[in-house]
Amino acid sequence: MDHRFDVEDRFADGAQYIAGAFRPGTSGRQHSVVDPASGDTVYTYELAGAADVDAAVAAAKAALPGWSGATPAERSTAMHRFSEVLAAQADDLAFAESLQCGKPLRLSAGFDVPGTVDNTAFFAGAARHLEGKAAGEYSADHTSYVRREPVGVVGSIAPWNYPLQMAAWKVLPAIAAGNTIVLKPAELTPLTSLMFARAATEAGIPDGVVNIVSGAGREAGEHLVGHPDVAMTSFTGSTGVGKRVAEIAIRTVKRLHLELGGKAPFVVFDDADLEAAVHGAVAGSLINTGQDCTAATRAYVQRPLYDAFVAGVADLFAGITLGDPFDPATDLGPLISHLQRDRVAAIVDRSRAYATVVTGGEAPGDKLAAGAYYRPTLITGAAQDSEIVQSEIFGPVLVVLPFDSDDEGLALANDTPYGLAASAWTRDVFRAGRATREMRAGCVWINDHIPILSEMPHGGYQASGFGKDMSAYSFEEYTQVKHVMYDNTAIVRKDWHRTIFGDR
Ligand code: NAD
Repeated sequence: MDHRFDVEDRFADGAQYIAGAFRPGTSGRQHSVVDPASGDTVYTYELAGAADVDAAVAAAKAALPGWSGATPAERSTAMHRFSEVLAAQADDLAFAESLQCGKPLRLSAGFDVPGTVDNTAFFAGAARHLEGKAAGEYSADHTSYVRREPVGVVGSIAPWNYPLQMAAWKVLPAIAAGNTIVLKPAELTPLTSLMFARAATEAGIPDGVVNIVSGAGREAGEHLVGHPDVAMTSFTGSTGVGKRVAEIAIRTVKRLHLELGGKAPFVVFDDADLEAAVHGAVAGSLINTGQDCTAATRAYVQRPLYDAFVAGVADLFAGITLGDPFDPATDLGPLISHLQRDRVAAIVDRSRAYATVVTGGEAPGDKLAAGAYYRPTLITGAAQDSEIVQSEIFGPVLVVLPFDSDDEGLALANDTPYGLAASAWTRDVFRAGRATREMRAGCVWINDHIPILSEMPHGGYQASGFGKDMSAYSFEEYTQVKHVMYDNTAIVRKDWHRTIFGDR
């Protein structure tokens, strides 16, 4: 399963993938991919500058007529091959994802890679199901129908937490619908996006359909968003950067899709299966070391279960093994970087003034001291309006708060600017129904937290953004709807011309 390869060697030609070939960036600035488990540099590359973005957009523009003009079946066949190529490279992809992110191989091989292969197969199928609404005579004298057309060249920007899946979520619906794309991965994690694009070429997807620019947000990212030949921006990242991206995109009136931050509530009613809720909260808050936009971050527990829930989570947190991502015994890897670890630690440290750190709240020493590790951290006693409850932490930190009435629990759950995901834990069908109706989030789970599916949409409400990834809904994001209307009468002087000619 563990397919180690020499990263410097594999990407010796550079970290830009433009028109079906690797090449170095031309910004004049270098960047390093660092293994966060050890702090060692694994790959140094030249960042993309504006000229590289221009070249990638030009390649995507050149490939657009051919790709958008292909039949759905042709696109679908190529994408089915793409999914097979990715499946054949599963071990290499899992290795690179774990290396650059520090995520346990258990997660990358068991979740990220199979999820990406499945997504690719899903969109290969979806390519043949491009639907318009009914055609017909909506006026007696005309026949109308709707065409769904690609938007054009898409410019996408992705974060570092699930680089391979984010590349898949951006690229697949775009190309299935006949668009071409330039994707900018996060500077810290370009490797699997490059492998993904290369696999597209190996599958026979034409050069220029999928291009990668590995560059900095302020430079390559902003240039891509502002580019006049880019028709749509699809961004996944933090809410703050998303606002900046929206400001730039609107200057050229681009189609915009924003998948932003989250602060998912986890509401446990007093009739819930306590053991299931405790296990769900631990797995749901620690997945990907908490660097998951849908991770359970705020558990609200109805008073009768509160003490037992806190004790249960503390107990399971204490049994979590931090370690080498490639060791099968490892439950939790490091955070993405030392910077991110220090950010998380600073938020937890500030919370000590107003809350109780029950477990964790520190970086481990000894063998793990060189990595960006942080222990699973459980916090209680925080006020609803405190920083630890309101802001996105993006680390292995769970805050637990009690509530009394159902009204109060649901109101607290809705009381942040975000709205990406939420869960409710109950055996009462009426409580479950109320929670699904009242929780303001793009996804509400009942008695679970985290699972996603290729067929189902993922996307936020409120400050978590708008638009959907995955599913037929995301396919629609990447198409535009055209009304076509035919005159059926061949009448020269049409009745409505009287608005101009009167009775003449
Ligand atoms: P980030 O916003 O710092 O960066 C995301 C991407 O934007 C990176 O590629 C970065 O280089 C680029 N970027 C930065 N500044 C830019 C600018 N001025 N113009 C254009 N691009 C710019 O986010 P991050 O730290 O990489 O990722 C973590 C964030 O992503 C969290 O807030 C998390 O919730 C969010 N996220 C959301 C989802 C979702 O589906 N809603 C999924 C994953 C991550």
